[in-house]
Order: sequence, then C-alpha cells, then structure tokens
Amino acid sequence: MSEVIEQAQHVSKYTRNHPYQSTVTYNELLTAPGSEKETRHLVMSLEEGMTYTPGDAVGIVPENREEAVAEVLRVLGYRGDERVLDHYKVEISLEEALRTRLHIGKLARSSVNQLAKLAPESAGLKLMAGPDNKAKAEEYCWGREFVDLATDFPGLLKEPQQLFQVLARLTPRMYSIASSQAMHPDNVQVAVRVIRYESHGRQRQGVASGELGERAPVGAQLPIFLHANGNFRLPEDDSSPIIMIGPGTGIAPFRAFLEERQAMGHAGRNWLFFGEQREKLDFLYKEQLLGMQRDGVLTKLDTAFSRDQAAKVYVQDRMRERGTELYEWLEQGAYFYVCGDATRMAKDVETALLDVIALGSGGTLEHAAEYLATMKKQKRYQRDVY
Ligand SMILES: Cc1cc2nc3c(=O)[nH]c(=O)nc-3n(C[C@H](O)[C@H](O)[C@H](O)COP(=O)(O)OP(=O)(O)OC[C@H]3O[C@@H](n4cnc5c(N)ncnc54)[C@H](O)[C@@H]3O)c2cc1C
Repeated sequence: MSEVIEQAQHVSKYTRNHPYQSTVTYNELLTAPGSEKETRHLVMSLEEGMTYTPGDAVGIVPENREEAVAEVLRVLGYRGDERVLDHYKVEISLEEALRTRLHIGKLARSSVNQLAKLAPESAGLKLMAGPDNKAKAEEYCWGREFVDLATDFPGLLKEPQQLFQVLARLTPRMYSIASSQAMHPDNVQVAVRVIRYESHGRQRQGVASGELGERAPVGAQLPIFLHANGNFRLPEDDSSPIIMIGPGTGIAPFRAFLEERQAMGHAGRNWLFFGEQREKLDFLYKEQLLGMQRDGVLTKLDTAFSRDQAAKVYVQDRMRERGTELYEWLEQGAYFYVCGDATRMAKDVETALLDVIALGSGGTLEHAAEYLATMKKQKRYQRDVY
C-alpha cells in the first residue's frame, strides 16, 4: 500500500461519530492574569499513525457541564434517570442525553419554533414563532440558553423524549491546529479562547471552550478527530514567501506553518502580522515567535496591540503602514493567508489588502480586485475564518 493511502486511512479511522479518546498532556493560559481574554494552549495526545498537515483542524466532541444539565433537569421537573432514545434510537438516560447529545447552550430560533409547535396553546410562544416573528425570536434568543426558555415557558413538554424535537444535536467544535507534526510527532496542539459571559442574570460559558478551560486538566480524556483542510496549505514550492495575518486565536495555524517551515528547513521567507488587545497580557506565543525571529525563521513580525495607545490599531492598519513592502512581497509571488474572526477582521483585512495592491500597482480598486482574483486562482489568497 502506498504511504499516502496508508496515511489517509489512519486519518479517517477516527471521525466525529467515532472519535479518538485523546489524553490532555498540557493545558495552560497563554494570556496573562488581568487580560480581558482567556486564551489557553492545549496539547492532546495522538495514537501512532494519526497524521495531520499544517492548516488542518481538530474536532473536539464536547459535553455540556453537569451544573447546566442539572439546572435544565430542575427547571423541567425531571430526575434525569428517565429513559429516552437518542438520535440512533439507542436507549439512554435523560441526564446522558442532556450532557452528551443535545445542544442546551446558546438558544436557537428553531428551539422556540419547535416548542411552539408542541404547545400551540402558549400565546407567548406564538408571538415569537414562525417566519413573521423572526426578529422578535432573535431578540429573545440573544444571550439566552434553553434553560431560560424552559423557565419562561414552563410545563409545556409532555414527555422527555420531546426534547429531541426541541433541541438541536450537540455538535463537535473545530479548532485550527497550532502545531506541526514535524516537531511534535505524537500530539496535536490548539489555542482556545474560552468564552464566558453573563447575561439575563446567569453566568454562561461556551460549551466546548468552557470545557477546555475548566474541565480538561492534564490527564483528562477528550474525544477528538482530525479534520483535513486542503484549502489552507503552505505553498507547494517551499521557497515561496508567505504573509500571515493572524490576530487573536487566528495565530494558531501560523504557529503550525512556522514550526513546519523551521523543522523542514524551508527556504521561503515568512511575515506574520499578529494583533490583540495588550502586548503585556495578550501577546500569544511571544517567546517562541521572538525566538523564531532571532533564528531567522520568522523574517518579519508586525504586531498591533489595540489597547496600548489612545487610538486603536489593528492588523489591517499595520498592513497599510507596510503597504509598499507588502506589495513587493506579493509581486515576488508571496502567498497571503488570513485566519481568525470572520465577522469583521477578515473583511477589514481584505479591504486593506485591496488598498495596498491599488496603491502599490498605481492602479484602480478594480485592478486590485482583478489582481486578488488572480491570486485566488493561483491559491495565493487563502482564508481560515470563523
Ligand atoms: C475552522 C474553524 C477553526 C476554528 N479555530 C479556532 C481556534 O483556533 N481557536 C478558537 O478559540 N476557536 C476556534 N474556532 C471556533 C470554535 O470552533 C468554537 O466555535 C468556539 O470555541 C466557541 O465554541 P463554544 O462551544 O465554546 O461556544 P458555544 O457554546 O458554541 O457558544 C458560542 C456563542 O456564544 C455566544 N456569545 C459569546 N459571547 C457572548 C456574549 N457576551 N453575549 C451573548 N452571547 C455571547 C455567541 O453567539 C457565540 O457564537 C474555530 C472554528 C472553525 C469553524
């Protein structure tokens, strides 16, 4: 059997429905105490033969926290030992269903709609149900979880099994891989921003990030699977230069790229733009990045710490400041990568990139758009945004 086929089989042996039981071997804060963010670095063991490529992601199959499950059971008036059939018609306890199968976190509009269908007598739910009341339902769902819906509209479920109609499936969460296997053959590493907030009088946590932040100490078992992402890859020609825009946890795949290029001795130049709130508290992987800069692996490093001065500065501002050189790199065939926040950052970075191209080439924005389209065709503009 060829090595490639053998590797592919190893990768696919574990899937979201049949994950690998990995052991957490490291779980520490990357941010310093006092930061508004809580970002952690986790290392998880792999079985021999499990392989990934920089640019891939790892899926983590989360569990809802016990307190959240207990609260839902209490509000619904169930004990937890009631029997239900899961999505595969396997009989399990209601407690297990709420912990491992059902999405009791962030409330979805579909849950409001489904509960309204099951309880047409509820006038309050009717006001939020259906396509005509989308905006009202969205407003209600914001910052709420299923427990709030069950509290506000009590006594509407006739039997525990109906929860499978009301609640979506608890799905795995993806994390960009932050390590290169050329450097760490037997583990996979991630940078996770732990989501915590307070809303409507309750303390909330992201389902998966909360688990990784609080309930995944060294030695804990986590069900994981590797997820290939062929659209986010280092250049085939390892002498090609790369430009990486990775603010916040967007740094993760670029740490993997840099480790790979360091371990393999790739000749290509590497330029990283990193951004966060404060240099002292939020400079993720600072020591390693500065070390790579000293060793010449990281050719250029530009940082943007938005809260360190009166006027906010972001990665896209640094790109504009370095526009002339950035355009030179593009002209020399550089690949341009973006990872991190999809809602704002990715758009702002693209706008800045178009401006840099227009200015550098002395052309119009239309010309810049064509230039970028060509880069895309050549796979020289790749994004991993979420
Ligand atoms: C390809 C890919 C790669 C990714 N890589 C990474 C990575 O490297 N690192 C990383 O940390 N994440 C990454 N993510 C995101 C990650 O998959 C999860 O979505 C993230 O960790 C949140 O999951 P959760 O289960 O903790 O939160 P959930 O339980 O899913 O809840 C998150 C939701 O909570 C809501 N929320 C958050 N704050 C508030 C607030 N203040 N008020 C009201 N509502 C709020 C938001 O609607 C948010 O969507 C990636 C995603 C994808 C698709």
